Amino acid sequence: MARYTNSLCRLCRRENLKLYLKGDRCYGDKCAFERRAYAPGQHGQRRGGKVSDYRIQLREKQKVKRIYGVLEKQFRGYYYRADKQKGITGTTLLMLLESRLDNVIYRMGFAVSRNQARQLVRHNHFLVNNRKVNIPSYRVKPGDVIEIKEKSRKVPQLMEAMETVVRRGVPEWMEVDKDQFRGTLKALPNREDLTMPIQEQLIVELYSK
Ligand code: SF4
Repeated sequence: MARYTNSLCRLCRRENLKLYLKGDRCYGDKCAFERRAYAPGQHGQRRGGKVSDYRIQLREKQKVKRIYGVLEKQFRGYYYRADKQKGITGTTLLMLLESRLDNVIYRMGFAVSRNQARQLVRHNHFLVNNRKVNIPSYRVKPGDVIEIKEKSRKVPQLMEAMETVVRRGVPEWMEVDKDQFRGTLKALPNREDLTMPIQEQLIVELYSK
């Protein structure tokens, strides 16, 4: 399966925003964005001229793709699915991304980043409603219980993630029982619960051209 293999910090610098793609490092003074808050590359520090609407929409789409670690084809698939559903397409798109298993695991604090969550899921460390699931894009529904497999509870990355989650906290639409190594998705978040600066209507405008 295709995946992004270049520097993750470049993505934050490109989007001019901390995307928190590297776990603990993002909170310390080693964060590349804190040191060089300008776009990567030879012309990164050049002041931009007039920016077209298309470019603004494109950057917004790239930003959201990068936050959730989804590649273009899959992201477009989420958009089409959101477009077919009732409700506000942009909000539905975000809810579909939020319900990905790798995102839920990251938010519950069982991984330090969505990237790591993806890897841990692929390595069979989790159960969903007592059944083995190793598909990072698996859609978690309200009421679903995510659990770290008994054999995996001593995996260092998982232990470290559970210790460091205090830094960002577990969102209120989830319930986590650290002693039982499990969490429940109580509900999907409301749009206003998602605090990253995302203007999803720009993505809808881009795709509906
Ligand atoms: Fe982005 Fe984290 Fe790298 Fe900072 S350390 S630039 S927040 S990925």
